[in-house]
Amino acid sequence: MVDVIIMKAVSADNQRHADIVRRSLDDNGILGLNIVSSPGAGKTTLLEKTIADNPDIKFGVIEGDVFTSRDAKRIEKTGAPAVQLNTQGSCHLTAEMVENALPKLKLAELDIVVVENIGNLICPAAYALGEHKRVVLLSTPEGSDKVLKYPEAFAGADLILITKMDLASAVNFDMQVVLDDLQAVNPKVEPWPASVVTGEGLDRWYKWLRNQMEK
Ligand code: MG
Ligand code: ZN
Repeated sequence: MVDVIIMKAVSADNQRHADIVRRSLDDNGILGLNIVSSPGAGKTTLLEKTIADNPDIKFGVIEGDVFTSRDAKRIEKTGAPAVQLNTQGSCHLTAEMVENALPKLKLAELDIVVVENIGNLICPAAYALGEHKRVVLLSTPEGSDKVLKYPEAFAGADLILITKMDLASAVNFDMQVVLDDLQAVNPKVEPWPASVVTGEGLDRWYKWLRNQMEK
């Protein structure tokens, strides 16, 4: 019982910080995104490509990693401001971490703040970060069986992108299994295929971003 009480306390505290993050995003007219996936699903690569292809949108990025500043350095090369959060072993970001990182971005100048979560399909699902939309990536080399193994990650998604479609046939990715499993777990979201190598799905992703910005 004690464990349950502690978990509730953490969750209420996280929500309080998430509300603060959401308020600062809203005060600045910013769309906030939380990108969740396994390690290596292509979160940073998708962001680099998205920033490069949409120079009129002012992105700010908060990079979550357990260690290293590698991803923030990659984002800075695109010209977008980036803040690196290192969790030093923790496998998810909390809203309090994002709240502390936000003042390092010039919010008044930004249109979209993207939080790239720690590569992990388990606990990030339980921590709202104050985002408006949660984007979950599933890459084809991870295999077709992941949706039902990590259902909470996919159930909480507002958008699901199946990434690295250029590798789908090489890794025997079975799209039908994934679509059927997603239908069971999160029927309101229609996943779509994407590849930064072939460009598949990217225009649709950019249109989706612009639609969300107008809301
Ligand atoms: Mg990354
Ligand atoms: Zn965790």
